[in-house]
Amino acid sequence: MGILSNILFAIILFAGIGFFAKNVKSLFRNIKLGKDKDISDNKPERLKNMINIALGQSKMVKRPVSGFLHVVVYVGFIIINIEVLEIIIDGLFGTHRIGLSVLPTSVYGFLISTFEVLAVLVLVAVVIFWIRRNVIKIKRFLSSEMSGWPKADGNIILYFEVVLMSLFLIMNATDLEFQALSSGNVISQFIAPLFSGMAEGTLHLIERSAWWLHIIGILVFLNYLYYSKHLHILLAFPNVYYGKLTPKGQLPNNPTVTKEVMLMMDPNADPFAAAPETEAEGEPEKFGASDVQDLPWINLLNAYTCTECGRCTSECPANLTGKKLSPRKIMMDTRDRLTEVGKNIDANKGVFVPDGKQLLNDYITPEELWACTSCNACVEACPVSIDPLSIIMEMRSYLVMEESAAPTELNNMMSNIENNGAPWPYNQQDRLNWKNEA
Ligand code: SF4
Ligand code: SF4
Repeated sequence: MGILSNILFAIILFAGIGFFAKNVKSLFRNIKLGKDKDISDNKPERLKNMINIALGQSKMVKRPVSGFLHVVVYVGFIIINIEVLEIIIDGLFGTHRIGLSVLPTSVYGFLISTFEVLAVLVLVAVVIFWIRRNVIKIKRFLSSEMSGWPKADGNIILYFEVVLMSLFLIMNATDLEFQALSSGNVISQFIAPLFSGMAEGTLHLIERSAWWLHIIGILVFLNYLYYSKHLHILLAFPNVYYGKLTPKGQLPNNPTVTKEVMLMMDPNADPFAAAPETEAEGEPEKFGASDVQDLPWINLLNAYTCTECGRCTSECPANLTGKKLSPRKIMMDTRDRLTEVGKNIDANKGVFVPDGKQLLNDYITPEELWACTSCNACVEACPVSIDPLSIIMEMRSYLVMEESAAPTELNNMMSNIENNGAPWPYNQQDRLNWKNEA
């Protein structure tokens, strides 16, 4: 059985990792469907942000209760998974607790006892998270975009963590050799009595089952990430690294429009100068975004990173005053459409076949887009540096510049600026008349 079990372990391990690698490839392919955008500037500041915000969770803890619980789950989960290294070596080479052969018993005991304490803390945090979602029903988990799969996904991951942590503790509690060490079993020694009276063979069977289920569970978890909002466990790091560094209120100029205005204002400009040859210097194929491929890649990375926490929506003045807009929904819609486009490409041998749908209208309506006050509260609130506003602005650009579909009030204002040099319906000489309106 020994060698067969090692082979079986290797097959399961490499299948799990292989499937994960395939999903990661699809993920990168989908993100690269977005437009090119050079974000290679200011590496030290980006690194600092990544360490503070993604690793240090500095924005998470702005809401102390959920922030603290999240840190417990995050730290606990990451550290306990160091144990996976031992499981993998044991599984591949048929050893048992290889750590005991390479580390002094006291060091090994210290490590495992740390893992056991963290496992209990994770269990407690996960139970509180579950209560917040399902019993207390905190408002930001109840919006319409959080029904169906997003709601189930939020709970599934909690169940996953309960199962994985419990298996880890049961595995330790039923390992007679480990319990006999009396080192590292700070928690499992209290679980072990639950199995007292059982035959040694039965205990061994339970220990082995917990061991196998634990590693299989971790591989399933790894592959589940691709289908879940929990991709943020991995993507929060690059997402924060590439986050916006310019002041929040600074919106990018449209280079084509800027160029036109500069030409109009420059008395020395040559109106017959050679037309630009590339899209980068001249008029783009399309202004703004009506579908995911029109958005810069960073917006697509943002969409896959969204944790669906709803902190953005809970601070959005448009949402708070009953408008249809929810910045979280903007991110979820972008991700769902991107996933749909990715599936389309997979089904059509690597080529996107128009499906008669797009992000605009089929997912996000103009009503939502025009409800935005561009206040940046959502950007400020996001714990992983996501920028829903930039997607909104790209889509508004499309509506204005490609469809001339701005709301009437805006159209009037834009015509007035064009004709009168001011947003008011007066001619140039009377442009200060606005003060008489007060
Ligand atoms: S920028 Fe727009 S979407 Fe974001 S919080 Fe403000 S109003 Fe809401
Ligand atoms: S955009 Fe940020 S704040 Fe909003 S739901 Fe996603 S992760 Fe949370």
